[in-house]
Parts: sequence; structure tokens; C-alpha cells
Amino acid sequence: MTEWWDLIVVGAGPGGASTTYHAARAGLKVLLLDRQTFPRDKACGDGLMPHAAEEVTLMGLGDWLDEPHHGVFTDFSFHTQTAFLRDSVPPSLHGPRGYVVRREETDLKLLERARSTGAQFHSDTRATKLLRSPAGRVTGLEAVIDGETRRYEAPLVVVADGVGGFAGDGMKAHQNAVARRQYFRGVDGPNKRDLHIFITEDMNEHGAGYGWVFYFGDGTANVGAGVSTRALARTGRNLKDYFDRFLEEPRLAGWLEEAVPESPAKSWSLKMGMWGARRHAQGVMMVGDAGSMIHPISGEGVGYAMESGRLAAAWAHQAHTLKDFSAGVLSGYEKQLRRQRAREHVSGHAMVSLMPSLSIMEPLFKACEKDPAARRAIVESFTGDAPVYNLLKHPRTLASAARQAIRPHLKRATNGGSRG
Ligand SMILES: Cc1cc2nc3c(=O)[nH]c(=O)nc-3n(C[C@H](O)[C@H](O)[C@H](O)COP(=O)(O)OP(=O)(O)OC[C@H]3O[C@@H](n4cnc5c(N)ncnc54)[C@H](O)[C@@H]3O)c2cc1C
Repeated sequence: MTEWWDLIVVGAGPGGASTTYHAARAGLKVLLLDRQTFPRDKACGDGLMPHAAEEVTLMGLGDWLDEPHHGVFTDFSFHTQTAFLRDSVPPSLHGPRGYVVRREETDLKLLERARSTGAQFHSDTRATKLLRSPAGRVTGLEAVIDGETRRYEAPLVVVADGVGGFAGDGMKAHQNAVARRQYFRGVDGPNKRDLHIFITEDMNEHGAGYGWVFYFGDGTANVGAGVSTRALARTGRNLKDYFDRFLEEPRLAGWLEEAVPESPAKSWSLKMGMWGARRHAQGVMMVGDAGSMIHPISGEGVGYAMESGRLAAAWAHQAHTLKDFSAGVLSGYEKQLRRQRAREHVSGHAMVSLMPSLSIMEPLFKACEKDPAARRAIVESFTGDAPVYNLLKHPRTLASAARQAIRPHLKRATNGGSRG
């Protein structure tokens, strides 16, 4: 049996739900497929940054964010090896705050909202291949449901399948980090309206990574750790090892003294920095993790998945208006996304990739303790509100950090010199 649609969306995470919602509201006949049954869990820190809250609000769900069992954060606390940096979250249309909501709940809510537009949703349906005309044009896709193969026709497919890699054909993005999280009840640290980020020596000696504690509003917390795949390759260690050592960090021990795990830890991989991904081709657009849209410094991807979904919906509408689904038209999606996000994502990716270890940033973190404007630049490069090279606008703090960084070497050289 063949069904006909204006647009098929593969994957009903935040990226797919946002694409579906906005495209259906623009008048397209949309089919959304997911290989899983909802509600479903997704390993995540569950943090919704202010710009992600904005995207949720654009889907008409702003009031839902304020439910009391959700966590609300108004500040960031960065606990580095040598420094403690605390600053408020950047403002957004939803107010100067972000939220912590379990993905099981968020993704179901977004999916229900997408379905409220009249879009069709098929769960337990695994997309298996794109269908093309003899001339190579996308004509739809094939999917498997209950062991039965079905064909769905559409001139346009949005791939929002996360790390799934459905589209193939050179569209698959690199996975450049891995992360693991566990839910705990009774974590007891200070400032429960902060997102707590731990830039530990263990995770940053041979690469980049951080641990986190994000509080919900119901006495539970999401505790996790993420490291670059480069760190794994260089050390031969695995993610579980990094996560377990993070839980043993002396600074965290007191917080976790009375804490009880709620469920086993869960791991997942991340595609970051807009790097190594093609996000459009004739008849296809990639959104969210499928398009490598996770921020390379923070590991945040929900807001970017939703934003890229919203933009892809606009370009799907445009392609239908023009009756032209060529790569040329759809490149408009890629260009718009790059204009909006490439500076922050690509510079962050370059920093994380080029730096032999994030530990060399420690003198800078320390210097930022005394410079509120430079501290703000650190926060904004973490939240994706500004590119990391904005730190260059704080030359005095950079110079002070550089002096701190070379002081031990100078001392060694001087001591060595005086011995000789
Ligand atoms: C441990 C960890 C912590 C993180 N913490 C945060 C955080 O705090 N805040 C944040 O913003 N981001 C965080 N991220 C990133 C965030 O989880 C992702 O960026 C986000 O889930 C991307 O959404 P998406 O819609 O692109 O993909 P997903 O949420 O992965 O959804 C993809 C969907 O596609 C479906 N699918 C896959 N293949 C097929 C197929 N062939 N056919 C049909 N369906 C298919 C899947 O079942 C799934 O439902 C974290 C990631 C990890 C791993």
C-alpha cells in the first residue's frame, strides 16, 4: 500500500516534532514516523537552555514549562579545577531562565503538540530507505512496521533521526563525543536553581569534557558526564570509567552522600559543532543531531534540534510553493542555519578540537573570577549566545591568564639556570 504526503519526517524527537508542528501549521500534509513507542526515554542532561525554552514557547507550550516538578535555573555555576565562576543565564523571550525537564516528558509533550495540528504520526515504524525516481529525485521512503514493508510517497523528507544514520549516502555526521547520565534522588548541593558544571582534571587532562548536576523541582537530579571521543582514544578509557570517577570527585562526594540512584545510568553519543554533516540534498533536509547540530562546548542539542526543525519547515513550505525540491532551493535552509549558528558552533568545535587539553584554560578560568565581563563571555560561549573568540575582547584578562600559564615554566627555567 502506498500513501501520499507533502512531507515525511523521520524521527519524533524535538527536531522532528518541531519540523512537523511548524510545517503542518504552514499548511503541509505531514507524516511523522518513529521507530519507537512514545513516551520513550532518551539519555540527556534534560536541560532546556533559554533559547530552547523560546522554541518550546513558539510551539505554544510556554505555560507547560512552569509546572512545579520541572527544574528552573537562573544561574550557571562552573566548578573548574582552580576556579569557581557563577553568572546568570542570558535573557530570552521566555525570561532569564532555563528549565530541567525529563526527556520522556518533554518529547511526549512536543509530539502531542505536533499531532494537534492534524499531522499523522506512526510509531514503531522504522524508516529503512529513501525512494528515488530513475532521475534520482526523492519520491518518498520505505519503512518497516511489524515486519511488514510499507512505502510512503512524498517529494520531500526531513531526517530527524538523531544518531540513527537513516539517510546514508554520505549524509551521516561524525559522532565526536559521548555522555552518560543517571537520575538520583536526594542530591544535596548548594544553589539548586543553578546548572552546575564541573570541569574536572580527570576529564580534561587529555581532551575535553565536563560533569554536571541539574536539579528538577521534585527532589531529584540528573547527574552526568560527557567527554570527547578524542579523550577516549587517547587514554584507552571508556565513558563508564569517566562517569564513575566523576561520581567519586571529592567536591561532589558531600552532595551525593545521601543520594539514591533512581535507575541505571544510560549512555549515548553526540554529533557536535555542525562539523562533517551535509544538511541538505535534492528532496532531503537533515535537522537536529542528524545534522550535527549539538553545541560543541555545552553538548546542548534540544534547542538547536527544534530551531533547525522550524527552519526546515519554512524551507519545506517554500519548496512546495515553488514546486521545486532541488538541492539549490533547499540550500537556503543550510545557508540560513549557518548564518544563525555557524560562528558559535564552528569556532567552538575548532577550540575543542585544536586544544590538546581543556586544562590549559585553567589560568583563564581563574583570571575570569575577577573580570565579570570576561566571565560573561565564558557563559555566553557555553550557552551558544556568542562565539568563543569573543574572549579576545578581554585582552587584560587574557594577558593575566597567559602570565599565570607561563609563570611555572619561567620559575623552572630560572631555577634550572641558577643551579647551572
Ligand atoms: C547524555 C547526554 C546529555 C545531553 N544533555 C543535553 C542537555 O542537557 N540539553 C540539551 O539541550 N541537549 C542535551 N543533549 C543532546 C540532546 O539529547 C540531543 O541534541 C537531542 O536529543 C537531539 O534531538 P533530535 O530530535 O535531533 O534527536 P533524538 O532526540 O535523538 O530523536 C531521534 C528520534 O529518531 C528516531 N529514529 C531513529 N532512527 C529512526 C528510523 N530509522 N526510523 C524512524 N525513527 C527513527 C528515534 O527513535 C528518536 O525518537 C545531551 C545528549 C546526551 C547523550
